[in-house]
Amino acid sequence: MDKTIQKVRTQLVLDHCFFGSGCLRLDVVENPANCETAYTDGKILGINTEYLKSLESAAQKSLLAHEVLHVVLLHHLRLQNRDITLANIAADHIVNEMLKDAGFTIPSDWIQGRGKGHSFESLYAELLKENKGKKGSKGGKVGNQPGQGGGQIIVGEVREPKGKNGEQLTEAERKELEQDGLINNQRDRAIAKAAGQLPGCIEKILADILESRVDWRKELAEFFAQANRNDFSWRKYNKRFMSGGFYLPSLYDEFISIGILIDTSGSMSDEALRQVAGEVNGIRDFAKSNITVLYIDTKVAGVQEFEVNQPINLKAKGGGGTDFRPGFDWIQSHDKDFTGVIYLTDGYCSNFPAEPEYSVLWVLTEKNPSFKPPFGKVITIQ
Ligand SMILES: [Zn+2]
Repeated sequence: MDKTIQKVRTQLVLDHCFFGSGCLRLDVVENPANCETAYTDGKILGINTEYLKSLESAAQKSLLAHEVLHVVLLHHLRLQNRDITLANIAADHIVNEMLKDAGFTIPSDWIQGRGKGHSFESLYAELLKENKGKKGSKGGKVGNQPGQGGGQIIVGEVREPKGKNGEQLTEAERKELEQDGLINNQRDRAIAKAAGQLPGCIEKILADILESRVDWRKELAEFFAQANRNDFSWRKYNKRFMSGGFYLPSLYDEFISIGILIDTSGSMSDEALRQVAGEVNGIRDFAKSNITVLYIDTKVAGVQEFEVNQPINLKAKGGGGTDFRPGFDWIQSHDKDFTGVIYLTDGYCSNFPAEPEYSVLWVLTEKNPSFKPPFGKVITIQ
């Protein structure tokens, strides 16, 4: 790889690890065809090395971060059938504004000044209106484009992702790319946060984009995967400890136990329960688990046990008020060795128990921004 690219990328990892880890994920292609600055389609980071070298060193970092931010914001998947040049102008306004907020240097000839208070879509719509009646601007050329003024240029253009043989992606493939992108964002956010290097403005944008787009099914799958891992290491440790050095690998013959707690008071439709049961059954094909289901209003009103190979089905029943404590109390008094608990609720209650030792995933059946439990993670079924 070109030395300058390598150097700038390393610098980005050291100074801004959120952008750095995003950058490391992209496949660098040097001097691709028809690329005067840089480009990305979400997977490839194409760089015109001559352009990169022409920039001051602070701006070199900005160029890579600029491309990463296009990917973070999923601009490559939001082009749809928009005019590619206008879409890139809108995307650049947004990205460069955010980079400035995050402390990056933006050269004066890069597009800027109109990103504040806009989404990519809303700014595009505005630019399109202003541009109506003017000559078409297809082609994605770099230069003095309509809506820019002052000779500002598009840098690091966004291109539509394509299949292996250059074919259009199907809707399902695009959806998958979107989910992968969001999961990558989540990962990079965690890395940067741990390093104390997540700019507040980026954090806010990420929170919005993640909350509205992450598929709850993926979250549920991650929860099971996590429970599986935790439990394995815990058992391994204990077995070795208890049998004086002799220990049998137990990954394949032991199963985790998960509790599904259902708040029967609220808006638990049969449809919502059917969806969750369907997902859990699917996940259990690879994350082998025993499942205990508790139906709870102000007390535990019903219990169902499902062995590893038994498909679960959930029934809405009961009624009455909501209290989150009885279910957790029941688990404790019955000595249940759960590695995780999934709690389905509409979230309209604030009687919480003390934080348990196992992980808890709250699954809201409708949007409820006021639900802020003192522990566990919250996801919403859409
Ligand atoms: Zn750009």
